[in-house]
Amino acid sequence: MKVRFAPSPTGDLHVGNIRTALFDWAYARHTGGTFLFRIEDTDTTRVTDEYINAAIDTLKWLGLDWDEGPEVGGDNGPYLQSMRLDIYAHWASKFIEQKDAYYCYCSPEELETVREAQRAANQAPGYNGHCRDLTLDQIEEYKTEGRIPVVRMRMPDGKTTFNDLIRGEMEFDHKFVPDFVLVRGDGSPLYTLAVAVDDVLMKVTHILRGEDLLSSTPRQIRVYQAMGVALEEYPIFAHLPFVMGADNAKLSKRNGEVSIAWYRDKGFLPEAICNYLALLGWSPGEDRENVTMKELSELFTVERVNSSPARFDMKKLEAINGDKIRALTIDEFLTWALPFLIKSKIITGTPEEIVLVKRALPLIQERIIMFSEIPAMLKFLFVKEVTVEADSMAQITDLSAKDVLRRSLKELELMSDWTHANIEAALRASLVEELGLKPRIAFGALRIATTGSKISPPLFESMELLGKAASLARISAALIL
Ligand code: GLU
Ligand code: ZN
Repeated sequence: MKVRFAPSPTGDLHVGNIRTALFDWAYARHTGGTFLFRIEDTDTTRVTDEYINAAIDTLKWLGLDWDEGPEVGGDNGPYLQSMRLDIYAHWASKFIEQKDAYYCYCSPEELETVREAQRAANQAPGYNGHCRDLTLDQIEEYKTEGRIPVVRMRMPDGKTTFNDLIRGEMEFDHKFVPDFVLVRGDGSPLYTLAVAVDDVLMKVTHILRGEDLLSSTPRQIRVYQAMGVALEEYPIFAHLPFVMGADNAKLSKRNGEVSIAWYRDKGFLPEAICNYLALLGWSPGEDRENVTMKELSELFTVERVNSSPARFDMKKLEAINGDKIRALTIDEFLTWALPFLIKSKIITGTPEEIVLVKRALPLIQERIIMFSEIPAMLKFLFVKEVTVEADSMAQITDLSAKDVLRRSLKELELMSDWTHANIEAALRASLVEELGLKPRIAFGALRIATTGSKISPPLFESMELLGKAASLARISAALIL
């Protein structure tokens, strides 16, 4: 068994790509086969080195390790199509020799005229076979005219059938699969040629990929045929259902966040992304929603892949991410949190800061759904003084708030053992019991005074971490606002 993931990185890998990669990986791991990673970069105008490196990095970050491909190598490389151009050229000329393919001299304008006529006659648009059997004289004439030919594959009359592991028996009538271009006028190969040649030469046995590529399958099978591959050696196809947005349109930038880089920046865990994407079209059974990578590789079968489209649900991904964050040990949580705090310049990363962050993290572990929320929540611990948020100002400048702050100050000044339990006991006694204030009112003012915001980690624990001196200084400062 050899399963491959073969993206054309014309941008950051998106949710659909990664769902495919994940299923490819899981299928290979489940069967004990090989996971091959190939970069399809023959479209050099759209695929850049930056995107290629980002794709490699993303797969690594997600934990989708590959057995053959960039960086790890293998017996069937190179694994970048741009380094295999001579191989595609070799096969293209072989196809011409065998008369499976031919030179087509039609100009783009002529092709467009044909298409227009087809449209007018209500026929399916496609190449009309004009250059299939040119005479030598015609070829000479075209050459003297200076025409640059493309190489076109001859599609014989008939049908292509194959058994798709997810969609079942598929049949394509060649009436709707016109002769197609293999090599452009400038000598560069098209996707259909490169992908099919590579899948054969790299000994790929299973092709799990997005449904958008279903219609290119008969053309790829035609290339296998021309390469002389025996029928029983053809790779087996499985086309995965589309991932739809909440509005039932195909998931795109327009109706959802599609770039995996975005999720990474927001602070989603790779395991959460993989767990959630695994559920898009596949199910471990028994309504389970929590799967680890290990379980996925143990449980994944193509039989359990659904053929109907899957709907992307951000809320569910967030819930899974929150669960995975809560399951982290404090040291793991710390490792994830630090880069977010450093990047937003809340800390520089000194040992003292790290000690304080580590003490603060348990206070917020239950409360966040992604790491990017951490800087705003812990900022109050690392600033000299807080700036009270504009929409909280009224709440601490009114008279009852001033009273709360004054009394709190008096209570707290006397405290020798500065623990959250002591702080809470003292303040409850004085503000809630004696003054008869509602806790929300009493502690709301203190929260704003000490953290600057209406939303913070638990108040008494926050004050403990902030320390006595800083807490009292902030309450005093709030009194003169
Ligand atoms: N490189 C193709 C793409 O990213 C996919 C190739 C394949 O899976 O067959 O669209
Ligand atoms: Zn032609």
